[in-house]
Amino acid sequence: MAAIKLETLLFDVPGVGPRFGRKLAQLGLRTVQDLLWHFPSRYEDFSQIYRIADLEPGQQATIRGLIQDVEIRRTWRKRMTIIEAVIADNSGSIRAVWFNQPYLLNILRVGRVGNFAGKVSISDGELYLSHPTHEMVGRDEEAETRHTGRLVPIYPETRGLTSKGLRFLIQPLLKMIDEVPEWMPSSILEAQRLPEINQALRTIHFPEAIEDATAAKNRFSFEDLFLLQLFHLSQKLKLAREKAPRVQTDIERLKKTVEALPFTLTQTQKQSLWEILKDMEQPRPMNRLLQGDVGSGKTVVATLAALVVHENNFQTALMAPTEVLARQHFETLRNLLGKIGVHLHEHDRMPSVGMLTASGAEICYGENLSEKTTKSKLANEVRRGSVPILVGTHALIERSVKFNHLGLVVVDEQHRFGVRQRQALARGQSALVPHFLSMSATPIPRTLMLTVFGDLDISTITELPSGRKNIVTKVVSSENRPKAYAFIRGQVKRGRQAFVICPRIDPPKEDVAKTPQNRYEAFLKLDVKSVKEEYEKLSKKIFPDLRLAMLHGQMKSKEKESIMRTFRDGKTDILVSTSVVEVGVDVPNATIMMIEGSERFGLAQLYQFRGRVGRGGHQSFCFLFTDSNAKTTNARLKAILEAKNGFELAEKDLKIRGPGEFLGEAQTGLPDIAMKALEDIELVKSSREAAVGVLRDDPSLKNHPLLRERLSAFQKEIHLE
Ligand code: ADP
Ligand code: MG
Repeated sequence: MAAIKLETLLFDVPGVGPRFGRKLAQLGLRTVQDLLWHFPSRYEDFSQIYRIADLEPGQQATIRGLIQDVEIRRTWRKRMTIIEAVIADNSGSIRAVWFNQPYLLNILRVGRVGNFAGKVSISDGELYLSHPTHEMVGRDEEAETRHTGRLVPIYPETRGLTSKGLRFLIQPLLKMIDEVPEWMPSSILEAQRLPEINQALRTIHFPEAIEDATAAKNRFSFEDLFLLQLFHLSQKLKLAREKAPRVQTDIERLKKTVEALPFTLTQTQKQSLWEILKDMEQPRPMNRLLQGDVGSGKTVVATLAALVVHENNFQTALMAPTEVLARQHFETLRNLLGKIGVHLHEHDRMPSVGMLTASGAEICYGENLSEKTTKSKLANEVRRGSVPILVGTHALIERSVKFNHLGLVVVDEQHRFGVRQRQALARGQSALVPHFLSMSATPIPRTLMLTVFGDLDISTITELPSGRKNIVTKVVSSENRPKAYAFIRGQVKRGRQAFVICPRIDPPKEDVAKTPQNRYEAFLKLDVKSVKEEYEKLSKKIFPDLRLAMLHGQMKSKEKESIMRTFRDGKTDILVSTSVVEVGVDVPNATIMMIEGSERFGLAQLYQFRGRVGRGGHQSFCFLFTDSNAKTTNARLKAILEAKNGFELAEKDLKIRGPGEFLGEAQTGLPDIAMKALEDIELVKSSREAAVGVLRDDPSLKNHPLLRERLSAFQKEIHLE
């Protein structure tokens, strides 16, 4: 028999066989490593073997005894079979009962000795074991057990694979497998007091004591965070070896520009701008995240940076996630440049800002004069280098767009912008890699900042421009809905606008409720407001005299764009929408944000919704509707009332909802154990220190070949770049 290693296919493991191997593969378990890294979620303590006479009702216990009697019965409907056995040890005897497992007759033979582990129940004053896990042990007292008489691993529900089945597979495998070479540096394991890999693997599945299982789990958590940070930190090192355009700041000139702004920059705006300019003076690419609440003035900071880049004869690309946002940026830039009175060119007929989206192109000349143009014309100007700032959507990454000398890429509301995308933007030009600035209003908890976004340097704008009013926020129960409607009407009369957010698009369908479980879920969802129904109700019954529109993700993007534009232009009074309005849209005239079923949204999301209002000079309001009286719901909604800023809220949200909320689809590749570990700031810090330490002495990991191998496998596993 060939040696069994981590990379051995489960097909080739004795006892697995092709059919079972296929089934495992369907569940994503292909190699020995896949299987061994399928960790238990908890353990059932069956370690002590009880005397039957000592059993008490309600207890989880293992007994060891002789099967004295077995019988099978069918219920009158002949639908169910019941097997009853009598098991005895030298202290007494007890009944054990199983439903619908007739094949047990082959195993539970009178005269055999077995362990039986399960819950002790009581009926008519008589104790019995209901559905105990059984394991025949023969008469050998010392025989090792798998399912009983020990801490028994319980695995996460996996389709078609029971915990028992997994124990059957994993226990012998742990014996057959060759020694696994340790990839973690031993100095780190020692410093952190973590078990070595072979021991950790054995004890996470079959621990002698619960402390051993915990230690093993800690090792794997630590390891995942360590690898994650090792990856990001080495990306950072790699990037630092690339060449970037040197952008020098003419301080005097910058001062004049800043003085020409129609407002004074806040302290942290200045600080952030400074950090950005300092980075760009370096001959290596900046990789920075600029974070700050909506309306804190990030775009202004990015614009000032782009001006400095332009003075150094480099172009800037500014990318937004949607057309509406791209247009908004385009207009902000145009206005701002107009106000500052900077002429990007001596000649007024030279373009200053261009905009490119899937649906068209525009160029702005001199002050405030903008013209529609064709994509190819704009692309030509960009290629010639005569467009200093190009704003757009993902259309900017298209092949037809080539910059002449791209110096800075600014990306709005998209945290992950890979090196590859950056290279695509800079394609066709010299070997220089442009500087990169990501802007985000989504507050990110510190643990995620260090791990998942660990390759980015961070600037934070912490204060809102002065004069901004607080948004009055209230949790409203459904009885008060009429009052809220009356209030909305009052605001609209004064010329203001309102958002109404609903958790879903369509009303729930009742016919999907096939199983009882689905029926129950459907019942729970019945009350959830849908955009379509609310829109019907509000436009026909409540506000027939007002102008309403509806917006949701099933619409074509053209349609969405035009609805958003109409609302932004003040031609709609009330916009009924799903969460699609979440990011970045700026409608200064909107003063009411009404959120239905608010308990269904994450705190960070609610915070984003609220940030859609209060952007103009008018007092704004946020109403959180909830039908839930649950304490936790209210605690959550209260958090949003009390939080001073988005970051505080993000930390709370992380505790309540876990990291998945923040990371979304992109990072679902992270193992569960790593996701859990991301909530632990101490573990994040210590693993980061360890990763920094390793890279300091050995930046390319050439002295740690096993670790390097493990890192590259990990990268592939979790779909990092
Ligand atoms: P963000 O991109 O962070 O959402 P913006 O840069 O779009 O914020 O700024 C929001 C609004 O506030 C804009 O109208 C902008 O002109 C204005 N603004 C930015 N900084 C200041 C400031 N320091 N003082 C007053 N208004 C400001
Ligand atoms: Mg913005």
